[in-house]
Amino acid sequence: MSELTTDLAPLVTALSFAAKKHRHQRRKDVEASPYINHPIDLINVLVNEAGVTDLTVLIAAILHDTVEDTETSFEELETIFGKKIADIVQELTDDKRFRKEKRKQLQIDNAARASYEARLVKLADKICNLRDMDVSPPAGWDLDRRREYFDWCLAVIDQVRGTHGQLENLFDEAYSKKP
Ligand code: NDP
Ligand code: ZN
Repeated sequence: MSELTTDLAPLVTALSFAAKKHRHQRRKDVEASPYINHPIDLINVLVNEAGVTDLTVLIAAILHDTVEDTETSFEELETIFGKKIADIVQELTDDKRFRKEKRKQLQIDNAARASYEARLVKLADKICNLRDMDVSPPAGWDLDRRREYFDWCLAVIDQVRGTHGQLENLFDEAYSKKP
């Protein structure tokens, strides 16, 4: 097993923070899995499947859904984790002022100019969501909706090609399971 030589304290703080924030939340699969499994899946993909060990990326991955899905503010993230991580999470957070269709389109439009760190997290997020969509899809989603979701993820990831070969291979592998 390769060694992580960086200081693990902020990573553990982020895990503890995200676990508390997401504690009442469940994923959309029929078993309603604990939400925290999802950010943990992201860092598992980043570290163990893609060899990404940059602590900033891993912490942003752990926190990536806290503002979008829980009562967390960017100011709170900045106070605890610093401006750089708060800014990356902001890049990964949909603007709730817009309607869902617009938010989906904005992800496609904005992906290419996201920071390198945000693009790595975005790749991991789409990999994990496509895998979930394959093995434990949201309850009640029909075939068309699942297929549309795969194609939307592809449209986003096509904008960041050239960022990280291994993550892109893992994405393509996940996309190949499109129903
Ligand atoms: P949502 O964004 O509401 O739901 C998908 C998101 O849910 C994922 O990105 C993921 O986000 C999260 N999630 C939670 N649990 C799971 C799980 N088990 N598997 C995968 N993802 C999970 O999607 P939309 O409602 O916007 O629909 C997606 C597509 O379906 C769109 O392309 C839309 O056009 C289409 N659609 C089709 C309809 C139809 O009836 N045919 C109706 C509405 C939309 P995170 O990582 O942030 O948690
Ligand atoms: Zn996510």
